[in-house]
Formats: sequence, C-alpha cells, structure tokens
Amino acid sequence: MANRIEPRTGIAFELAKGQTLKVIDPTGEQVADMLAFSVDDHAEAISSGRSIDYAGKLFLSTGDSIYSNRSRIMLRIVEDTVGRHDFLFTPCSSDTFRIIYGDERPHHGCQGNFVQALKPYGITGDQIPVAFNIFMNVALDSQSGAVTVQPPRSKAGDFIVFEAETDLLVALTACSAPQSNNGSFKPIDFEVGPFQR
Ligand SMILES: [Zn+2]
Repeated sequence: MANRIEPRTGIAFELAKGQTLKVIDPTGEQVADMLAFSVDDHAEAISSGRSIDYAGKLFLSTGDSIYSNRSRIMLRIVEDTVGRHDFLFTPCSSDTFRIIYGDERPHHGCQGNFVQALKPYGITGDQIPVAFNIFMNVALDSQSGAVTVQPPRSKAGDFIVFEAETDLLVALTACSAPQSNNGSFKPIDFEVGPFQR
C-alpha cells in the first residue's frame, strides 16, 4: 500500500537497517528530493560530495551507494527504472524562487517542507545538506560545466528502490520547483518494504 505525498509537500519517517524504500512517480515528470540522517546522530547525513567521489560519476543508479559525510554507506540503490537523478542541487527554497524565478511572495519549497517535517526531530534548516534529487534531470556541458534543468525522464509508474544500510531518519518531498517538474506540481508515492535480510 503506497503512501502519497501531496504536491509541494514533504514528510519525514524512520527507516530501519535492511528496510527498503520505494519512491514512485505516479503521474510522470515529478521530482522527489530525499534526505537521510543517521537516526542516532543527526550530524551524520547523506553527502553529495562523498557519494560522487566514491562512485566516480555524477549520475547514480542501480548498484550505487549513497554515503554519509562520515563515509559510511547510508543507502544502496537496488532497483531503478529511470536511471537519471541529480545529486548536485540544493533543495528548492523561497530563496531559489526569489533569485531564479523573481517571485515576490515565494513558496517555501522543498527546503521549507524539509524544515517543517524535520522540526519534530530537532533538525534545523542549517543542518540540511544537498538532497538526493530523485528523477531530477540535470544536463551538463562537459566543456563549460554549464548545468541546465530538463524535464524528468520518469513516466507514470516509474520508481527507484533504496535499501537502508543503517538505521535512518528519511525526509522526502514532492518537489515544488516549476523548472524541475516540467511546469506542474504532482504527487509522489512511496512504500516502505519488509526487512530484506
Ligand atoms: Zn524542490
């Protein structure tokens, strides 16, 4: 039974070691930002830099691992029907919408949704790292390094499955940025699976 994250909202929950998390794009072309913290010590969180460093590539998919700032594996990607996700961009925020889109009364974005969802766990905005941006499609120019946000490659029903390598606090959003989601805001579904080992 899938849980639904409504458009432009977010949620936090615990994921035990060995449990699986399936994140589904129910309607297509919708990004979900994901964070994970060590449940015992919130100073340990997923690290974009370390994960890209150890994988030796920017685009992580099946078989790749998401490492923490302390170089422990937090999650492994065990299944992925899309194969294109981003691990460079920070969660969209009111500042994103002010700076990039010129909004005068900006939405609080994934950053604001993370802050709300993580507040009960004592985590503040300053502790939020670069998220693993599921289904976000960023194109790179290898010469100039230019990055451009393209429509997600995910179609209705596409999914990615992670397995937790340690006990985690996970936060997940249905992303709020127009550019990242090809101009419309849609829900995200997720399922927490049984213990695998
Ligand atoms: Zn977002």
